Amino acid sequence: MSAVAYQAARRPERTCVGCRTVKPKRELVRLVLPVAGPVEVDLTGKRSGRGAYLCRQTGTTCLSQARRRRALTRALRTTPDRIDHDALAASLGAIPLEELSSPR
Ligand SMILES: [Zn+2]
Repeated sequence: MSAVAYQAARRPERTCVGCRTVKPKRELVRLVLPVAGPVEVDLTGKRSGRGAYLCRQTGTTCLSQARRRRALTRALRTTPDRIDHDALAASLGAIPLEELSSPR
């Protein structure tokens, strides 16, 4: 096992698909690819489906970086038509500040 894989196994850290910063899971917001329909913001972090993560504090910025590189398409192994970046940006912008400071 590589050093990186070892660290990932013992601490709940994930990489932001936008800026590629590795952070504790609680500082990231999960995006989920449901069985059907478009990719959505998963505030509970527990919905079933393939997931990808963006920074909570700079979600919309990281989303636009991901959009330029088509990082979500790759991370979620899906097709571009399942990803509505504008709708995701609106959802990220709508997360209340309380959610940012004390994620569930
Ligand atoms: Zn980021």
